[in-house]
Amino acid sequence: MGIELLLPFFFTKFREINIKTKQKNQFMGKTIIISNRLPVQLQISNGDITAIPSVGGLATGMKSVHSGGDSLWIGWSGLTNEEIPKELSPKIDAALKEHGSSRVNLTEKEVDGFYYGFSNRTIWPLFHYFLEYSEFELQNWEIYKSVNQKFADAIIEAADDDDTIWIHDYQLMLVPQMVREQKPDISIGFFLHIPFPSFEIFRTLPWREKILEGLLGSDLIGFHTYDYERHFLSSVRRLLGLDVSFNDIYSDERVIKVDSFPMGIDYKKFSEAAKKNEDTAPEDLSELQRRLYNHKESTADAKFFLSIDRLDYTKGIAKRLNAFEYFLNKYPEYKEKVRLIILAVPSRSNVPQYQLLKREVDELVGRINGEFSTVSWTPIWYFYRSMPFENLIDLYTTCDIAWLTPIRDGMNLVAKEYIATRTDKTGVLILSEMAGSANEMNEAMLVNPNNFEQTADALKEAINMPKEEQIERNSILQKRLERYNVEKWANDFMSSLLDQKSKDHSHVARRLSVDLMDTIIDSYKSSSKRLLFIDYDGTLAGFHKDPQKAAPDEELYELLDNLNNQKDTEMFLISGRDKETFTKWFLHKKYNMIVEHGVWISRDGEEFKMLENVKKDWMEKILPVLESFVDRTPGSFIEEKNYSLAWHYRNTDPDFGQKRASELNTVLTSLIGTDDLSVLNGNKVMEIKSSNVNKGRAAMRMYAEEQYEFVFAIGDDWTDEFMFMELPEDSITVKVGRQKTNARYYVDSIKNVRALLSRFVY
Ligand code: UDP
Repeated sequence: MGIELLLPFFFTKFREINIKTKQKNQFMGKTIIISNRLPVQLQISNGDITAIPSVGGLATGMKSVHSGGDSLWIGWSGLTNEEIPKELSPKIDAALKEHGSSRVNLTEKEVDGFYYGFSNRTIWPLFHYFLEYSEFELQNWEIYKSVNQKFADAIIEAADDDDTIWIHDYQLMLVPQMVREQKPDISIGFFLHIPFPSFEIFRTLPWREKILEGLLGSDLIGFHTYDYERHFLSSVRRLLGLDVSFNDIYSDERVIKVDSFPMGIDYKKFSEAAKKNEDTAPEDLSELQRRLYNHKESTADAKFFLSIDRLDYTKGIAKRLNAFEYFLNKYPEYKEKVRLIILAVPSRSNVPQYQLLKREVDELVGRINGEFSTVSWTPIWYFYRSMPFENLIDLYTTCDIAWLTPIRDGMNLVAKEYIATRTDKTGVLILSEMAGSANEMNEAMLVNPNNFEQTADALKEAINMPKEEQIERNSILQKRLERYNVEKWANDFMSSLLDQKSKDHSHVARRLSVDLMDTIIDSYKSSSKRLLFIDYDGTLAGFHKDPQKAAPDEELYELLDNLNNQKDTEMFLISGRDKETFTKWFLHKKYNMIVEHGVWISRDGEEFKMLENVKKDWMEKILPVLESFVDRTPGSFIEEKNYSLAWHYRNTDPDFGQKRASELNTVLTSLIGTDDLSVLNGNKVMEIKSSNVNKGRAAMRMYAEEQYEFVFAIGDDWTDEFMFMELPEDSITVKVGRQKTNARYYVDSIKNVRALLSRFVY
């Protein structure tokens, strides 16, 4: 499901949402909604402009908030710059302003490259698994980027820092990051109205990382189903290597929440329209309704199958026609008894695939009707047009069976609308398993659209389904649709976005703000004796595929030199690294160093000496176990240190690596089973070492040597937690990253660690 046809519904409900969220937080600013198209249609006639609110799903949902003046909808008006006479521009802006909207101006070339090109010929087919239709045109990508920047600029210009931004759909996937760059603290939500494909499909996109990074500018990313959410998370892990914990993504600077919010419909609008239709006097019925009734009356047991979609290859219309032919051949007793009503709404008709599809459907309808028609019966009624709302209701209420079997569909609202109009709860819904709505509509008859045998049987079963069963199924469906309507959907999304913004992601640690940092630096400067413990990997330097490549850069040497030269300050690099590497990197610098988690110590450039007496006879027993894991886990490797063994899995497939790590953990704990050895789960590494060695114990030994007034420790992973736990309570302990920690404070990134440490130099 895209949002093109749904805008108006969103529009109506949005005001209420804004009011509700405002009650929750009085200080919140305005809400800005951004979608490719504005929820208003512009009509130019005789040099005048009329702006008519669109009718349909999404816009109605947002409408009520939106007219309030404290909310703004930004989008493209539907008219290119070339189509708008210059002198009409101010009138257009004024007309849009009346509807709380403001436009992003696009040229014909931009619409071609951004909308018809990249959005509809690259992303749409790819995200719907039509890989062979996906075109990877560099020029279209460039236009997509620049148009996304235009949308972002329009937001940036209109937004204050306390505003809430809700960006919609696949045309604007780069906008969140573009806004974030200029407005780092603003609240941004993004909702994708189409499927997110599996990693195996998504990875084929040449600009895949850029799209993910664009989306990750958001605080909350919403999908229709859990499957789309899980595909997205998997791509984020595999392509960007970011940590994901449940549905939180940890990026350098922020935590991004991902969740599923299945979009509902304006249930009341459909059920009330159906009731009204029922109560309409025969003479007031629409022409379509009258004809439908006439046909029903002429054959008492005739059944109508209803198929409504945009004419899009994802909707499987041609396949449905073939399946209908299959059904008539398999069950010829239903000839003259059933009729398929197809409403195919014209869509994107300037894209070649859509033109081909139109021809294919026209031909199929012609062929099947030609083959099966009798003087009194035409099996297929085919409408290629868009119908007014009243006629849609006529179709929904009159047809006994809705047959909606897209090959792939983000949601499929037609299925929900059909059920909502069934006032007496009769009617059968045959729905494709591949539609997002199938996840919530288990009581429908779910079929695989590629399985003609199953589909034909389902049609037969639907024709013969007892009324009680129909009522039983539809009662459950209606209850759910009425409860989780589009308003609830939008409310859920908005309150989740607000929660996400207000959440303290540090668990127990506090973010090291500028103010806090000032206080810490003051206390540092006023102390007569100071002790600093600084972890290396993930704290001072980033991770590399090959750990040897994470060597210090010049800027880091300079920082450490300065720290080491501070008067009355003992600086220790404290690391799990082997002593050979640190000898090579730092011995000549004469820094104090503790390595292999506390086995070795070196001060002022002396050779390393043992700090703890540790055994190593266990290593030959454990090594083969680790080797068997390396053999079975491509990309993983063993690091043999003097007194410990480390199994690294940073370069494995993230899901698989994680699975193997927990497997190894189980194997090792059952093997070790004594107090002598412990297994440490580091950052994509598991390390087995003597229990009597850890950074906390080593740090405490240093601390005990003298009277220190200021103690500081900083580190990023689980092995550093020993320091945070064991050092005296008034120590300044700092975690790098936002995972759960025993440290008092946290900082977001290596860049910030270096910035913090440089303030210790004065
Ligand atoms: N619709 C419409 N006019 C028509 C036929 C359909 O406005 O002539 C509406 C229909 O009521 C539904 C939407 O179009 O709300 C289609 O949404 P769906 O999720 O089924 O598919 P999409 O077109 O978004 O992929």
